[in-house]
Amino acid sequence: MKYLSTRGGMAPQPFSDILLEGLAPDGGLALPESLPAISADTLEAWRKLNYAELATEILALFIDDIPRADLARLTHAAYSADVFGSEQIVPLKPLNKGMSLLGLSEGPTLAFKDMAMQFLGQVFEYVLDKRQATLNILGATSGDTGSAAEHALRGKRGVSVFMLSPHGRMSDFQRAQMYSLQDPNIHNIALKGVFDECQDIVKALAGDLDFKAKHSLGAVNSINWARIAAQVVYYFWGWLRATTASGQQVSFAVPSGNFGNILAGHIARRMGLPVRRLVLATNENNVLEEFFRTGIYRPRPASETHATTSPSMDISRASNFERFVFDLLGGDADKVRACWNELAVSGQFDLSDKLPEFETRYGFVAGVSTHADRLNTIRSVQQETGVLIDPHTADGVKVAANYVEPGIPMIVLETALPAKFSETIEAATGKPAPVPAHLQNLASLPQRVVVLDCQVELVRDYISRHAPA
Ligand SMILES: *Cc1c(COP(=O)(O)O)cnc(C)c1O
Repeated sequence: MKYLSTRGGMAPQPFSDILLEGLAPDGGLALPESLPAISADTLEAWRKLNYAELATEILALFIDDIPRADLARLTHAAYSADVFGSEQIVPLKPLNKGMSLLGLSEGPTLAFKDMAMQFLGQVFEYVLDKRQATLNILGATSGDTGSAAEHALRGKRGVSVFMLSPHGRMSDFQRAQMYSLQDPNIHNIALKGVFDECQDIVKALAGDLDFKAKHSLGAVNSINWARIAAQVVYYFWGWLRATTASGQQVSFAVPSGNFGNILAGHIARRMGLPVRRLVLATNENNVLEEFFRTGIYRPRPASETHATTSPSMDISRASNFERFVFDLLGGDADKVRACWNELAVSGQFDLSDKLPEFETRYGFVAGVSTHADRLNTIRSVQQETGVLIDPHTADGVKVAANYVEPGIPMIVLETALPAKFSETIEAATGKPAPVPAHLQNLASLPQRVVVLDCQVELVRDYISRHAPA
Protein backbone atom coordinates (compact mmCIF):
# COMPACT_ATOMS: atom_id res chain seq x y z
CA MET A 1 0.00 0.00 0.00
CA LYS A 2 1.57 3.27 -1.17
CA TYR A 3 0.34 6.83 -0.64
CA LEU A 4 -0.22 9.65 -3.14
CA SER A 5 -1.07 13.34 -2.77
CA THR A 6 -4.48 14.86 -3.53
CA ARG A 7 -2.60 17.38 -5.73
CA GLY A 8 -0.80 14.71 -7.76
CA GLY A 9 2.75 15.96 -7.14
CA MET A 10 4.18 13.31 -4.80
CA ALA A 11 5.92 10.07 -5.79
CA PRO A 12 4.24 7.04 -4.13
CA GLN A 13 5.47 6.65 -0.53
CA PRO A 14 5.12 3.97 2.12
CA PHE A 15 3.09 4.56 5.29
CA SER A 16 6.11 5.14 7.57
CA ASP A 17 7.26 8.06 5.40
CA ILE A 18 3.94 9.91 5.27
CA LEU A 19 3.47 9.23 8.99
CA LEU A 20 6.15 11.73 9.94
CA GLU A 21 5.21 14.43 7.41
CA GLY A 22 2.47 17.04 7.55
CA LEU A 23 1.33 18.34 4.18
CA ALA A 24 2.63 16.56 1.08
CA PRO A 25 5.48 18.50 -0.63
CA ASP A 26 2.99 19.77 -3.28
CA GLY A 27 0.67 21.21 -0.60
CA GLY A 28 -1.83 18.36 -0.85
CA LEU A 29 -2.85 15.63 1.60
CA ALA A 30 -1.71 12.01 1.54
CA LEU A 31 -4.21 9.32 0.49
CA PRO A 32 -3.81 5.58 -0.18
CA GLU A 33 -3.43 4.68 -3.87
CA SER A 34 -6.55 2.57 -3.61
CA LEU A 35 -8.94 1.62 -0.82
CA PRO A 36 -9.17 -1.98 0.40
CA ALA A 37 -12.61 -3.60 -0.09
CA ILE A 38 -14.14 -5.52 2.80
CA SER A 39 -16.50 -8.37 1.91
CA ALA A 40 -19.65 -9.23 3.87
CA ASP A 41 -18.02 -12.51 4.94
CA THR A 42 -14.97 -10.76 6.31
CA LEU A 43 -17.20 -8.37 8.22
CA GLU A 44 -19.10 -11.27 9.78
CA ALA A 45 -15.82 -12.93 10.78
CA TRP A 46 -14.84 -9.70 12.58
CA ARG A 47 -17.80 -9.87 14.98
CA LYS A 48 -15.83 -11.96 17.48
CA LEU A 49 -12.81 -9.62 17.65
CA ASN A 50 -12.09 -7.27 20.52
CA TYR A 51 -11.31 -3.61 19.76
CA ALA A 52 -7.52 -3.99 19.55
CA GLU A 53 -7.83 -7.08 17.33
CA LEU A 54 -10.23 -5.25 15.01
CA ALA A 55 -7.82 -2.30 14.89
CA THR A 56 -5.00 -4.66 13.88
CA GLU A 57 -7.09 -6.12 11.02
CA ILE A 58 -8.10 -2.73 9.65
CA LEU A 59 -4.83 -0.87 10.17
CA ALA A 60 -2.88 -3.74 8.56
CA LEU A 61 -4.79 -2.96 5.35
CA PHE A 62 -3.30 0.55 5.35
CA ILE A 63 0.12 -0.21 6.87
CA ASP A 64 2.17 -2.85 5.10
CA ASP A 65 5.62 -1.65 6.13
CA ILE A 66 5.22 -2.66 9.80
CA PRO A 67 5.22 -6.44 10.46
CA ARG A 68 1.80 -7.63 11.57
CA ALA A 69 2.99 -8.99 14.93
CA ASP A 70 4.52 -5.59 15.73
CA LEU A 71 1.36 -3.78 14.62
CA ALA A 72 -0.70 -6.03 16.91
CA ARG A 73 1.57 -5.10 19.80
CA LEU A 74 1.04 -1.39 19.06
CA THR A 75 -2.77 -1.64 18.83
CA HIS A 76 -2.98 -3.67 22.05
CA ALA A 77 -0.87 -1.07 23.87
CA ALA A 78 -2.99 1.78 22.43
CA TYR A 79 -6.43 0.23 23.03
CA SER A 80 -6.16 -1.34 26.48
CA ALA A 81 -8.62 -1.37 29.36
CA ASP A 82 -5.97 0.49 31.38
CA VAL A 83 -6.11 3.44 28.98
CA PHE A 84 -9.84 3.40 28.14
CA GLY A 85 -11.33 2.33 31.47
CA SER A 86 -13.04 -0.90 30.36
CA GLU A 87 -12.54 -3.91 28.09
CA GLN A 88 -15.07 -2.49 25.64
CA ILE A 89 -12.81 0.50 24.82
CA VAL A 90 -15.72 1.99 22.80
CA PRO A 91 -19.11 1.20 24.37
CA LEU A 92 -22.35 1.50 22.37
CA LYS A 93 -24.97 3.09 24.61
CA PRO A 94 -28.68 3.13 23.75
CA LEU A 95 -30.39 6.53 23.68
CA ASN A 96 -33.96 7.18 22.56
CA LYS A 97 -35.84 7.61 19.26
CA GLY A 98 -33.82 4.95 17.41
CA MET A 99 -30.51 6.57 18.35
CA SER A 100 -27.51 5.28 20.26
CA LEU A 101 -24.19 6.79 21.31
CA LEU A 102 -20.83 5.45 20.22
CA GLY A 103 -18.64 6.14 23.27
CA LEU A 104 -15.41 7.51 21.80
CA SER A 105 -14.49 9.56 24.86
CA GLU A 106 -13.44 7.00 27.46
CA GLY A 107 -9.72 7.75 26.99
CA PRO A 108 -7.41 9.84 29.19
CA THR A 109 -8.60 13.29 28.01
CA LEU A 110 -12.34 12.49 27.76
CA ALA A 111 -12.63 13.35 24.05
CA PHE A 112 -12.57 11.34 20.83
CA LYS A 113 -9.15 12.63 19.80
CA ASP A 114 -7.65 10.05 22.18
CA MET A 115 -8.87 7.30 19.83
CA ALA A 116 -6.40 8.30 17.11
CA MET A 117 -3.71 9.88 19.29
CA GLN A 118 -3.16 6.80 21.44
CA PHE A 119 -2.32 4.81 18.31
CA LEU A 120 -0.23 7.68 16.91
CA GLY A 121 1.85 7.75 20.11
CA GLN A 122 2.63 4.05 19.77
CA VAL A 123 3.41 4.11 16.06
CA PHE A 124 5.58 7.27 16.31
CA GLU A 125 7.71 5.67 18.99
CA TYR A 126 8.00 2.46 16.95
CA VAL A 127 9.02 4.13 13.67
CA LEU A 128 11.45 6.57 15.32
CA ASP A 129 13.06 3.69 17.18
CA LYS A 130 13.54 1.74 13.93
CA ARG A 131 15.11 4.76 12.26
CA GLN A 132 17.15 5.80 15.27
CA ALA A 133 15.59 9.22 14.78
CA THR A 134 14.11 11.85 17.07
CA LEU A 135 11.17 14.16 16.51
CA ASN A 136 10.10 17.38 18.20
CA ILE A 137 6.38 17.92 17.89
CA LEU A 138 5.44 21.60 17.72
CA GLY A 139 1.77 22.45 17.98
CA ALA A 140 -0.77 25.03 19.09
CA THR A 141 -3.96 24.13 20.91
CA SER A 142 -7.06 25.74 22.26
CA GLY A 143 -7.90 22.58 24.21
CA ASP A 144 -8.63 19.05 23.01
CA THR A 145 -5.92 18.31 20.45
CA GLY A 146 -3.03 19.44 22.62
CA SER A 147 -4.05 17.47 25.65
CA ALA A 148 -4.76 14.32 23.61
CA ALA A 149 -1.33 14.62 21.95
CA GLU A 150 0.47 15.18 25.26
CA HIS A 151 -1.24 12.25 26.97
CA ALA A 152 -0.43 9.99 24.00
CA LEU A 153 3.23 11.05 23.70
CA ARG A 154 4.21 11.46 27.36
CA GLY A 155 7.23 9.37 28.20
CA LYS A 156 7.62 8.07 24.63
CA ARG A 157 11.21 7.53 23.48
CA GLY A 158 12.48 9.74 20.68
CA VAL A 159 9.66 12.31 20.84
CA SER A 160 9.33 15.64 22.63
CA VAL A 161 6.26 17.86 22.54
CA PHE A 162 6.27 21.68 22.52
CA MET A 163 2.65 22.74 22.85
CA LEU A 164 1.67 26.42 22.66
CA SER A 165 -1.57 27.45 24.35
CA PRO A 166 -3.22 30.85 24.92
CA HIS A 167 -2.45 31.92 28.49
CA GLY A 168 -5.59 32.18 30.62
CA ARG A 169 -7.96 31.24 27.80
CA MET A 170 -8.64 27.56 28.37
CA SER A 171 -11.02 26.04 30.88
CA ASP A 172 -9.58 25.11 34.31
CA PHE A 173 -10.17 21.48 33.43
CA GLN A 174 -8.34 21.69 30.09
CA ARG A 175 -5.43 23.55 31.71
CA ALA A 176 -5.12 21.01 34.49
CA GLN A 177 -5.23 18.15 31.98
CA MET A 178 -2.24 19.52 30.08
CA TYR A 179 -0.18 21.34 32.67
CA SER A 180 -0.30 18.59 35.32
CA LEU A 181 1.86 16.31 33.14
CA GLN A 182 5.31 16.13 34.72
CA ASP A 183 7.02 14.07 32.00
CA PRO A 184 10.30 15.69 30.94
CA ASN A 185 9.48 15.24 27.21
CA ILE A 186 6.32 17.38 27.50
CA HIS A 187 6.75 21.18 27.32
CA ASN A 188 3.72 23.37 27.94
CA ILE A 189 4.26 26.91 26.74
CA ALA A 190 1.48 29.36 27.61
CA LEU A 191 1.66 32.50 25.46
CA LYS A 192 0.18 35.84 26.42
CA GLY A 193 -2.04 35.97 23.34
CA VAL A 194 -4.97 34.27 21.62
CA PHE A 195 -5.06 30.89 19.88
CA ASP A 196 -4.59 32.36 16.38
CA GLU A 197 -1.35 34.02 17.51
CA CYS A 198 -0.08 30.69 18.87
CA GLN A 199 -0.95 29.12 15.54
CA ASP A 200 0.90 31.88 13.64
CA ILE A 201 4.05 31.21 15.68
CA VAL A 202 3.84 27.49 14.85
CA LYS A 203 3.51 28.37 11.17
CA ALA A 204 6.44 30.79 11.31
CA LEU A 205 8.77 28.26 12.97
CA ALA A 206 7.66 25.30 10.84
CA GLY A 207 8.09 27.50 7.76
CA ASP A 208 11.70 28.32 8.72
CA LEU A 209 13.20 25.32 6.92
CA ASP A 210 16.64 25.61 8.53
CA PHE A 211 15.17 25.70 12.02
CA LYS A 212 12.74 22.92 11.16
CA ALA A 213 15.50 20.62 9.89
CA LYS A 214 17.94 21.48 12.68
CA HIS A 215 15.43 20.51 15.37
CA SER A 216 13.53 17.77 13.47
CA LEU A 217 10.23 19.59 13.93
CA GLY A 218 7.06 17.61 13.24
CA ALA A 219 3.33 17.93 13.83
CA VAL A 220 0.39 15.82 14.96
CA ASN A 221 -2.33 17.86 13.32
CA SER A 222 -5.62 16.50 12.11
CA ILE A 223 -4.45 16.06 8.51
CA ASN A 224 -2.17 13.19 9.56
CA TRP A 225 -3.34 10.12 7.64
CA ALA A 226 -2.54 7.75 10.53
CA ARG A 227 -5.16 9.57 12.59
CA ILE A 228 -7.79 9.09 9.90
CA ALA A 229 -6.90 5.39 9.52
CA ALA A 230 -7.19 4.83 13.28
CA GLN A 231 -10.61 6.51 13.22
CA VAL A 232 -11.90 4.21 10.46
CA VAL A 233 -11.74 1.37 13.02
CA TYR A 234 -14.53 2.66 15.25
CA TYR A 235 -17.02 2.99 12.38
CA PHE A 236 -16.57 -0.74 11.77
CA TRP A 237 -16.79 -1.38 15.52
CA GLY A 238 -20.02 0.64 15.75
CA TRP A 239 -21.60 -1.29 12.88
CA LEU A 240 -20.53 -4.65 14.38
CA ARG A 241 -22.08 -3.74 17.77
CA ALA A 242 -25.31 -2.22 16.38
CA THR A 243 -26.26 -4.95 13.89
CA THR A 244 -26.86 -8.68 14.03
CA ALA A 245 -27.22 -9.57 10.36
CA SER A 246 -25.00 -9.32 7.31
CA GLY A 247 -25.73 -6.34 5.07
CA GLN A 248 -27.88 -4.50 7.62
CA GLN A 249 -27.52 -0.73 7.25
CA VAL A 250 -26.83 1.87 9.91
CA SER A 251 -26.43 5.65 9.80
CA PHE A 252 -23.80 7.68 11.64
CA ALA A 253 -24.13 11.26 12.91
CA VAL A 254 -20.90 13.18 13.50
CA PRO A 255 -20.29 16.50 15.30
CA SER A 256 -17.84 18.04 12.85
CA GLY A 257 -15.15 20.71 12.65
CA ASN A 258 -12.07 19.89 10.59
CA PHE A 259 -13.85 17.05 8.74
CA GLY A 260 -11.42 14.47 10.17
CA ASN A 261 -13.88 12.34 12.08
CA ILE A 262 -16.55 12.08 9.39
CA LEU A 263 -13.93 11.60 6.66
CA ALA A 264 -13.04 8.32 8.40
CA GLY A 265 -16.73 7.35 8.13
CA HIS A 266 -16.68 8.15 4.43
CA ILE A 267 -13.59 5.92 4.00
CA ALA A 268 -15.29 3.08 5.94
CA ARG A 269 -18.36 3.38 3.70
CA ARG A 270 -16.23 3.29 0.56
CA MET A 271 -14.51 0.15 1.90
CA GLY A 272 -17.91 -1.54 1.86
CA LEU A 273 -19.30 -0.96 5.36
CA PRO A 274 -23.13 -0.90 5.01
CA VAL A 275 -23.64 2.76 5.93
CA ARG A 276 -26.82 4.44 4.78
CA ARG A 277 -26.21 8.02 5.79
CA LEU A 278 -23.37 10.11 7.13
CA VAL A 279 -25.07 12.95 8.98
CA LEU A 280 -22.72 15.92 9.35
CA ALA A 281 -23.56 18.27 12.24
CA THR A 282 -22.02 21.71 12.64
CA ASN A 283 -22.57 24.42 15.22
CA GLU A 284 -23.06 28.07 14.23
CA ASN A 285 -19.77 27.81 12.30
CA ASN A 286 -21.47 26.12 9.36
CA VAL A 287 -18.85 26.14 6.59
CA LEU A 288 -19.43 22.43 5.98
CA GLU A 289 -23.21 22.47 6.31
CA GLU A 290 -23.27 25.27 3.74
CA PHE A 291 -21.20 23.14 1.37
CA PHE A 292 -23.49 20.13 1.62
CA ARG A 293 -26.55 22.37 1.16
CA THR A 294 -25.25 24.51 -1.71
CA GLY A 295 -22.14 22.88 -3.20
CA ILE A 296 -20.13 26.04 -2.47
CA TYR A 297 -17.12 25.78 -0.17
CA ARG A 298 -16.47 29.14 1.45
CA PRO A 299 -14.01 29.13 4.38
CA ARG A 300 -14.42 32.09 6.73
CA PRO A 301 -11.86 34.56 8.05
CA ALA A 302 -11.10 34.34 11.78
CA SER A 303 -13.23 37.46 12.29
CA GLU A 304 -16.31 35.54 11.08
CA THR A 305 -15.63 32.51 13.27
CA HIS A 306 -17.94 32.49 16.28
CA ALA A 307 -16.82 31.40 19.73
CA THR A 308 -19.55 28.90 20.69
CA THR A 309 -20.40 26.51 23.51
CA SER A 310 -19.19 23.60 21.36
CA PRO A 311 -15.73 25.17 21.00
CA SER A 312 -13.95 22.19 19.45
CA MET A 313 -16.13 22.66 16.37
CA ASP A 314 -15.32 26.37 16.01
CA ILE A 315 -13.40 26.19 12.78
CA SER A 316 -13.26 28.52 9.81
CA ARG A 317 -11.84 26.02 7.32
CA ALA A 318 -11.95 22.24 7.31
CA SER A 319 -8.41 20.97 6.90
CA ASN A 320 -9.35 17.39 5.89
CA PHE A 321 -12.02 18.40 3.40
CA GLU A 322 -9.63 18.20 0.43
CA ARG A 323 -9.56 14.40 0.72
CA PHE A 324 -13.32 14.24 0.19
CA VAL A 325 -13.17 16.71 -2.70
CA PHE A 326 -10.56 14.44 -4.32
CA ASP A 327 -13.15 11.62 -4.31
CA LEU A 328 -15.95 13.90 -5.50
CA LEU A 329 -13.78 14.89 -8.48
CA GLY A 330 -13.10 11.27 -9.41
CA GLY A 331 -9.54 11.27 -8.05
CA ASP A 332 -8.48 13.91 -10.59
CA ALA A 333 -5.62 15.83 -8.91
CA ASP A 334 -5.66 18.53 -11.63
CA LYS A 335 -9.26 19.37 -10.76
CA VAL A 336 -8.42 19.42 -7.03
CA ARG A 337 -5.56 21.83 -7.69
CA ALA A 338 -7.90 24.01 -9.75
CA CYS A 339 -10.35 24.20 -6.82
CA TRP A 340 -7.67 25.33 -4.38
CA ASN A 341 -6.30 27.83 -6.92
CA GLU A 342 -9.82 29.21 -7.27
CA LEU A 343 -10.08 29.38 -3.48
CA ALA A 344 -6.86 31.38 -3.28
CA VAL A 345 -8.16 33.84 -5.89
CA SER A 346 -11.81 34.29 -4.93
CA GLY A 347 -12.15 32.86 -1.41
CA GLN A 348 -14.46 30.02 -2.46
CA PHE A 349 -15.07 27.29 -5.03
CA ASP A 350 -18.27 25.93 -6.48
CA LEU A 351 -19.03 22.21 -6.88
CA SER A 352 -22.79 22.63 -7.10
CA ASP A 353 -22.83 20.49 -10.26
CA LYS A 354 -22.03 17.56 -7.92
CA LEU A 355 -24.85 18.43 -5.49
CA PRO A 356 -27.11 15.50 -6.49
CA GLU A 357 -24.32 13.02 -5.69
CA PHE A 358 -23.66 14.19 -2.13
CA GLU A 359 -26.53 12.16 -0.73
CA THR A 360 -27.33 9.60 -3.41
CA ARG A 361 -23.77 8.46 -4.03
CA TYR A 362 -21.94 9.34 -0.80
CA GLY A 363 -24.73 9.28 1.79
CA PHE A 364 -23.93 12.77 3.09
CA VAL A 365 -26.57 15.02 4.64
CA ALA A 366 -25.93 17.97 6.98
CA GLY A 367 -27.53 20.26 9.52
CA VAL A 368 -26.80 23.09 11.97
CA SER A 369 -27.27 23.16 15.72
CA THR A 370 -27.21 26.38 17.76
CA HIS A 371 -26.51 27.28 21.39
CA ALA A 372 -30.22 27.05 22.20
CA ASP A 373 -30.41 23.65 20.45
CA ARG A 374 -27.49 22.36 22.54
CA LEU A 375 -29.09 23.38 25.81
CA ASN A 376 -32.48 21.95 24.82
CA THR A 377 -30.97 18.72 23.57
CA ILE A 378 -28.79 18.17 26.67
CA ARG A 379 -31.85 18.77 28.86
CA SER A 380 -34.33 16.66 26.90
CA VAL A 381 -31.97 13.72 26.41
CA GLN A 382 -31.29 13.69 30.13
CA GLN A 383 -34.99 13.89 30.99
CA GLU A 384 -35.99 11.16 28.56
CA THR A 385 -33.09 8.73 28.98
CA GLY A 386 -31.12 9.71 32.09
CA VAL A 387 -28.00 10.07 29.94
CA LEU A 388 -25.96 13.27 30.21
CA ILE A 389 -24.28 14.30 26.93
CA ASP A 390 -21.68 16.97 26.20
CA PRO A 391 -22.43 20.04 24.03
CA HIS A 392 -20.64 18.70 20.91
CA THR A 393 -22.45 15.38 21.13
CA ALA A 394 -25.66 17.37 21.60
CA ASP A 395 -25.08 19.08 18.24
CA GLY A 396 -24.84 15.57 16.75
CA VAL A 397 -28.01 14.34 18.44
CA LYS A 398 -29.96 17.46 17.42
CA VAL A 399 -29.14 17.08 13.73
CA ALA A 400 -29.36 13.25 13.78
CA ALA A 401 -32.95 13.37 15.04
CA ASN A 402 -34.07 14.78 11.67
CA TYR A 403 -32.67 11.78 9.81
CA VAL A 404 -33.77 8.78 11.86
CA GLU A 405 -35.49 6.14 9.70
CA PRO A 406 -37.43 3.07 10.84
CA GLY A 407 -35.29 -0.07 11.09
CA ILE A 408 -32.00 1.78 10.60
CA PRO A 409 -29.97 2.34 13.78
CA MET A 410 -28.73 5.95 14.05
CA ILE A 411 -25.34 5.93 15.77
CA VAL A 412 -24.30 9.33 17.13
CA LEU A 413 -20.59 9.71 17.79
CA GLU A 414 -19.95 10.87 21.35
CA THR A 415 -16.98 13.20 20.82
CA ALA A 416 -16.49 14.35 24.45
CA LEU A 417 -17.73 13.68 27.97
CA PRO A 418 -19.80 16.36 29.75
CA ALA A 419 -17.23 16.83 32.55
CA LYS A 420 -15.05 18.71 30.07
CA PHE A 421 -17.68 21.38 29.45
CA SER A 422 -19.35 21.67 32.80
CA GLU A 423 -20.39 25.34 32.48
CA THR A 424 -22.67 24.56 29.55
CA ILE A 425 -24.00 21.47 31.29
CA GLU A 426 -24.89 23.64 34.27
CA ALA A 427 -26.59 26.16 32.00
CA ALA A 428 -28.68 23.35 30.50
CA THR A 429 -29.53 21.27 33.56
CA GLY A 430 -28.89 23.52 36.57
CA LYS A 431 -26.16 21.21 37.87
CA PRO A 432 -22.46 20.84 37.05
CA ALA A 433 -21.39 17.67 35.24
CA PRO A 434 -20.07 14.85 37.43
CA VAL A 435 -16.29 14.44 37.22
CA PRO A 436 -15.03 10.85 36.77
CA ALA A 437 -13.59 9.50 40.04
CA HIS A 438 -10.02 9.19 38.78
CA LEU A 439 -9.93 12.88 37.81
CA GLN A 440 -11.43 14.39 40.92
CA ASN A 441 -8.11 15.64 42.28
CA LEU A 442 -6.89 16.88 38.88
CA ALA A 443 -7.28 20.57 39.72
CA SER A 444 -5.10 20.26 42.83
CA LEU A 445 -2.13 18.58 41.11
CA PRO A 446 1.03 20.69 40.63
CA GLN A 447 1.25 22.26 37.17
CA ARG A 448 4.27 22.52 34.88
CA VAL A 449 4.10 25.36 32.35
CA VAL A 450 6.23 28.28 31.22
CA VAL A 451 4.52 31.57 30.43
CA LEU A 452 6.07 33.68 27.66
CA ASP A 453 5.22 36.87 25.85
CA CYS A 454 3.66 36.14 22.48
CA GLN A 455 6.81 36.52 20.35
CA VAL A 456 8.18 34.04 17.88
CA GLU A 457 11.81 34.68 18.97
CA LEU A 458 11.06 33.70 22.56
CA VAL A 459 9.51 30.41 21.43
CA ARG A 460 12.39 29.76 19.03
CA ASP A 461 14.86 30.32 21.83
CA TYR A 462 12.95 28.05 24.22
CA ILE A 463 12.89 25.20 21.69
CA SER A 464 16.59 25.65 20.85
CA ARG A 465 17.48 25.29 24.50
CA HIS A 466 15.15 22.36 25.30
CA ALA A 467 14.88 20.24 22.14
CA PRO A 468 17.00 17.08 22.28
CA ALA A 469 19.44 17.08 19.34
C1 LIG B 1 -12.10 17.80 17.44
C2 LIG B 1 -13.49 17.70 17.94
C3 LIG B 1 -14.61 17.71 17.07
C4 LIG B 1 -14.47 17.91 15.57
O1 LIG B 1 -13.87 16.82 14.93
P1 LIG B 1 -13.28 16.97 13.45
O2 LIG B 1 -12.52 15.72 13.20
O3 LIG B 1 -12.37 18.18 13.50
O4 LIG B 1 -14.42 17.16 12.51
C5 LIG B 1 -15.87 17.54 17.62
N1 LIG B 1 -16.05 17.40 18.96
C6 LIG B 1 -15.00 17.39 19.81
C7 LIG B 1 -15.27 17.27 21.28
C8 LIG B 1 -13.69 17.54 19.35
O5 LIG B 1 -12.66 17.54 20.21
